[in-house]
Amino acid sequence: MEPSTSTRRRFTINDFEIGRPLGKGKFGNVYLARLKENHFIVALKVLFKSQIEKEGLEHQLRREVEIQAHLQHPNILRLYNYFYDKRRVYLILEYAPRGELYKELQRMQRLNEQRTATIIEEVALALTYCHEKKVIHRDIKPENLLLGLMGEVKIADFGWSVHTPSLRRKTMCGTLDYLSPEVIEGRTYDEKVDLWCVGVLCYELLVGQPPFESSTHSETYKRILKVDLKFPESVPLGAQDLISKLLRYNPSERLNLAETLKHPWVREHSRRVLPPVAQVVS
Ligand code: AMP
Repeated sequence: MEPSTSTRRRFTINDFEIGRPLGKGKFGNVYLARLKENHFIVALKVLFKSQIEKEGLEHQLRREVEIQAHLQHPNILRLYNYFYDKRRVYLILEYAPRGELYKELQRMQRLNEQRTATIIEEVALALTYCHEKKVIHRDIKPENLLLGLMGEVKIADFGWSVHTPSLRRKTMCGTLDYLSPEVIEGRTYDEKVDLWCVGVLCYELLVGQPPFESSTHSETYKRILKVDLKFPESVPLGAQDLISKLLRYNPSERLNLAETLKHPWVREHSRRVLPPVAQVVS
């Protein structure tokens, strides 16, 4: 299932048995599916070309596929391959059996130190790998983090990711809670935007709400630009130290990924285990 253009195998929908729907996205649905020839389980994301064209997102989809297909890391959702017919584009994705981190957080209200530190380590390792390849994700948040069999994080949704450096401005919908000051102000930004998001994520996992949440968009923007950060007493001091060193207005003052991984609170509480190496499909 290797995606390189010259040798890429061409799949069709007839190569798969389709199982239950795993979820609905804006542009189509995701199904559990099994490759007939060897019973390899995948998630098949079915996108309707008409909807993608209507929104003018062909370029973005191409970039997402191109980027994700070249990333291979235990904490990044694999995109094995893709194919299309007249009306649809199909993405063959790694199946994440434990679903979305967002749902786990809703269920649990907030996560403990061990679970949070483990997730932060996994995300930081995945981002280290991305940044080495000059890819910035830009959209790290619980909705975009899926969970593997052992509960390990799989970064998904490279729809907003870009190759650095980027001058692109953002026109996006969805939550504003993870936007960094430089993105809001439309300045040039670099891989440090992802470190801002790691800080917001760490806070949201421990507290149950993101740090700058407000009732209106303009209030959220204001609080982000002021870095109006307050901690409930329940947040352990070690985590407060990490979060306040990530949530700095000036990107160059933020901890980098290596420092995040070495932070004493992460080291003390993370229990990362490496999942068994995934089966490779020819
Ligand atoms: P999306 O269109 O990517 O937002 O996907 C819609 C929903 O399908 C997600 O919110 C997940 O709950 C589910 N889903 C997407 N991809 C996978 C996957 N690879 N494994 C398991 N569930 C997935």
